[in-house]
Amino acid sequence: MDVKEYIINLGFTFDIETYGCQMNAHDSEKIAGILTSIGYRPSAEKYEADLVIFNTCCVRENAENKIFGNVGKMKQIKQKNKNLIVGVCGCMMQQNGVAEHLYQMFPFVDLIFGTTNMQKLPEMLYEILIEKKRSLHICQEGVAAEEVVMLRTPPPIASVNIMQGCDNFCTYCIVPYVRGREHSRSIDAVVREVEQLMGEGYKEVMLLGQNVNSYGKGLENSDFPKLLDAVAKTGIERIRFMTSHPKDASMLMLEQIAKHKNICKQLHLPVQAGSTRILQEMNRKYTREQYLKLVEQIRSLIPEIFLSTDVLVGFPGETEQDFEQTISLMQTVKFDAAFTFVYSPRKGTKAALMQNQIPEEVKQQRIIQVVELQAEHTYQSNLKNVGKVEKVLIEGKSTKNSQTICGRTDGGKMVNLPGSINLLGKMVTVEITEAKKTTLIGRIVN
Ligand code: SF4
Repeated sequence: MDVKEYIINLGFTFDIETYGCQMNAHDSEKIAGILTSIGYRPSAEKYEADLVIFNTCCVRENAENKIFGNVGKMKQIKQKNKNLIVGVCGCMMQQNGVAEHLYQMFPFVDLIFGTTNMQKLPEMLYEILIEKKRSLHICQEGVAAEEVVMLRTPPPIASVNIMQGCDNFCTYCIVPYVRGREHSRSIDAVVREVEQLMGEGYKEVMLLGQNVNSYGKGLENSDFPKLLDAVAKTGIERIRFMTSHPKDASMLMLEQIAKHKNICKQLHLPVQAGSTRILQEMNRKYTREQYLKLVEQIRSLIPEIFLSTDVLVGFPGETEQDFEQTISLMQTVKFDAAFTFVYSPRKGTKAALMQNQIPEEVKQQRIIQVVELQAEHTYQSNLKNVGKVEKVLIEGKSTKNSQTICGRTDGGKMVNLPGSINLLGKMVTVEITEAKKTTLIGRIVN
């Protein structure tokens, strides 16, 4: 029997619960696209779906614990609905032994697949629906699906994968082990996708990859500045990208950002720590001084740049002096925004084996300091916007007030403003009237 015919006849629906980063969210758009192509429809109600897939993340320990808890809850739901298919996929399934463990511990999970196996979903569902078997497909090699029809979030903003995997092996990070080595799509393929998105009404693209600015390895005559140039020339209204590695942030890349109006003046440049000794232990391949010099270069070439970062506290062996260096680097740079994290050992990484792990209470004291300092810097950065006139791309209704709509400035700051949802997807001119702790308030001007 044809599995598509079977799915359509029974009117099956699906739901995907996504954890982790934007790459994972984008993978879920691909999975949704594959499921739609074989007859599934998105479910209006999560627990009424005939297929529930958990797209997992293993970068942070707390996400992992939450995932196990939420998958476990499906046991009861499945007792009420015997035909329900429960699936688990994503980075966590690529970790040594996790998929097998889950397969044995959770017999109600029917479908398990890794990051490079989603193309096989129709075959896996055939095994489950027609052959009445459980399906487990984990492959350590290969590349995740790239040229698939996706079920994306509606316009105006779309994610476009430009590369996947990572060759850097930062000692705290699990990504290279679960996402494999770097693999870049061709410039032509990326440009084609952006042009198609423009035709579908998308106004902004986010170019995604674990290390976007090392894009192009293994391709001829291709690097990240060339890709930026080619995407900018499509004429799409806005281009953003993440994540960049400071060691790969070249002058050529900065020149492209400065040159093209449609490349947003926003750069996420994870520093992680302010102490060169800790950066070396992390295998980040830059020093404190090199990072600070890079920030100076960026700000002199692109003075309006919105600069954000990641800060990781409590890395093994981080002394009080090392931590003070992180604080002083933050005070020097005054980032416009930062994602702040407490180090937690990830099994399989080098740092997890380091002897000098930091006590939990010390990590907590440090993260509080970092969060408070960044909150102050974010607010100061927001205050600088008051009185300015900005282009804002309207993304939807504000979450807190149904009378207001929201969108981002070129630099990526969220602005809430009075207005009609009919403006969704429009670029409007907005005067910033007030700064809140994390967002801005504005009003439309002609
Ligand atoms: S650059 Fe480092 S932190 Fe980023 S994904 Fe690669 S290994 Fe992980």
